[in-house]
Amino acid sequence: MSASKPDVRELICVNCPMGCRLQVTVEQGQVRTVKGNVCSRGDRYARDEVLNPKRMVTSLIVVPGSREPLSVKTRTAIPKDRIFDCLKAIRACQVRLPVRIGDVILPDVLGTGVDVVATRNLPDAPCQGSGQTA
Ligand code: SF4
Repeated sequence: MSASKPDVRELICVNCPMGCRLQVTVEQGQVRTVKGNVCSRGDRYARDEVLNPKRMVTSLIVVPGSREPLSVKTRTAIPKDRIFDCLKAIRACQVRLPVRIGDVILPDVLGTGVDVVATRNLPDAPCQGSGQTA
């Protein structure tokens, strides 16, 4: 049996303004080498981005009684393939006034272990749902 050809992926590290261009060699589902990084954060970023990409999610929620929507975000990044479901869970969320910045709006969204939190104050409450989907 012949060995599979390594796949070389090009990424730009987003961890600092240097924006190093990274070349990541992937073979049999494993990262073999990372080149182009100036520091170890670039190596970590490349491995995570190839094997387990994650993103922060931000969104808005309409809150009854408020003229302005509530802006929310995940406290940390969640797996990229859960973004759509996360947005759905946020859309289904019912929030009551008042809301304070940092309030947990959806605890442990989709069982990721990550909370969705308010990023602004709305004068004159946490969601009724758990964010879990069947
Ligand atoms: S590899 Fe290091 S220096 Fe280069 S962009 Fe990433 S964090 Fe910045």
